[in-house]
Amino acid sequence: MANARRFGLYLARWQLSTPILWLVIRNLGAGLGSTVVANLIGGAIFFWVDRFIFTSRAVEVWQFKDKGRCDACGKEESLWRLVKASNYDKSSSRPHFLCMQCSKNKTDQLRAQGIKIRGKSL
Ligand SMILES: [Zn+2]
Repeated sequence: MANARRFGLYLARWQLSTPILWLVIRNLGAGLGSTVVANLIGGAIFFWVDRFIFTSRAVEVWQFKDKGRCDACGKEESLWRLVKASNYDKSSSRPHFLCMQCSKNKTDQLRAQGIKIRGKSL
């Protein structure tokens, strides 16, 4: 029910742009009615896209190096670096690349600190 209300508000917010959009596209022969419909469709699609982006824990950024030296143990291997997770952000830190084993140790350690990492199946 709360979802339905939010969805309604979201669609209403999208309609705020209808008059402006209509001014633009009426020159292309579109009526106000079809502009409203276009915005309903756009809103219906983006409601779910926005929800996914803002609520999911899927916002996790990893960097991968095909080959390099692990910053922790010095082993020559494929390297991983977790840049961003839901409550973890190292995007402005000095890059720290780890081999598979060290990366696993690190993510275990971070998980123990309560940072939610889905991980590269590590
Ligand atoms: Zn290592």
